[in-house]
Amino acid sequence: MTVRRGRNFLQTPGPTNIPERILRAMHQPAWEYSGPDFVELARECLLDIRPIFKTQEEVFIYASNGHGAWEAALSNILSPGDKVLVPETGLFSFAWSNMAEQLGVTIDTIPSDWRHAIIADEVEERLRADKAGEYRAVLMVHTETATGITSEIPAVRRAIDNAGHDALLVTDVIASLACTDFRMDDWGVDIAIGGSQKGLMCPIGLGFNAVSQKARAVASADGGGSPRSYWDWQSRSRVRPEAYRWFSGTAPEHMIFGLREALDMLVEEGLDAAFARHARLGDATRAAVDAWATAGAMEINALVPKQRAESITTIRVNNGFDIKQFQGVLRDNFNVAVGGGLGQLEGKAFRIGHMGDINEPMILGTLASVESTFKILGIPHGDGALPAAIASLAAAHRQ
Ligand SMILES: *Cc1c(COP(=O)(O)O)cnc(C)c1O
Repeated sequence: MTVRRGRNFLQTPGPTNIPERILRAMHQPAWEYSGPDFVELARECLLDIRPIFKTQEEVFIYASNGHGAWEAALSNILSPGDKVLVPETGLFSFAWSNMAEQLGVTIDTIPSDWRHAIIADEVEERLRADKAGEYRAVLMVHTETATGITSEIPAVRRAIDNAGHDALLVTDVIASLACTDFRMDDWGVDIAIGGSQKGLMCPIGLGFNAVSQKARAVASADGGGSPRSYWDWQSRSRVRPEAYRWFSGTAPEHMIFGLREALDMLVEEGLDAAFARHARLGDATRAAVDAWATAGAMEINALVPKQRAESITTIRVNNGFDIKQFQGVLRDNFNVAVGGGLGQLEGKAFRIGHMGDINEPMILGTLASVESTFKILGIPHGDGALPAAIASLAAAHRQ
């Protein structure tokens, strides 16, 4: 293995950099998990996670990745044979739909070109056409990590309301939580699904379901949801007073130690400041890519500027550009990891993550290393990308 000195730059859209503070908070012996200290810590975390979702509702925490949290949400509200509407956004809407199909749910997809956000009018049209009220839910990905596009949740909420439809609004906010504004209660979201390893800066290992009263009523109605146990919001007594039940078994203590630190860090920074930081770093990245793009070999995937995600930029490349080779040279020579293309963009795009615990020099270093790699490989790119990123950051800080 190559010896690499200095810091490793992890610019992938998950997992993201884990701050030293979180690592240190986790570096301790196990606690007695039903003892008063851990019970108090868990109680605090279950409450203090709510403001991150901007909700007063219950947030369930699972020892799982995002896929687990997806399944938790689906199995609590959907039974085999139920129908849901899925506006396609990219690989993540697709993978989530596949999971629902494996659980016996019927999926109706609203197709997309992977270059635009969800079109709320199309959602409304489909719901209006559903006279029998068959759709149990609309499953939407807020920030689609494959395409680098964020869709508007309030617009989809309005579409459901305008159609007078009763479907639950279920949102995957795994790649947007703590990166981009999200307001569960104000926006009328029924279930919000999160994960620990993106904007929350923790290791992979916690999945979240923030759940409205309406969704909980669906789940606890007779015959509501699918046969389930670990994922169940109610019957395994995740909401009962006995702390040992909150995690349906031994609590993922060390993840909770990390989460406690992450929540403190977000409160210290302020959520709005964290959103502004992501927007600033996203703007700098986009300014650089636009300059590179003038040579015709690459472009930002998201066609509409205001739909571009603050946490991830997906860059489409033309045929002469070998993504695997590019990632390898960048990794081997610069200690920088970026994401490859996913799904229909595999081999056709790379992705620069700017989510979680990152700052200006990390983005500038990443952009400079990416450009050096273009030069090593002879990949055509326009000039002035770094000056554009620098100017963008300076302008943001002068304000
Ligand atoms: C990362 C991600 C997931 C999947 O999370 P895992 O922890 O890998 O299961 C789901 N949805 C979105 C939008 C993501 O970015």
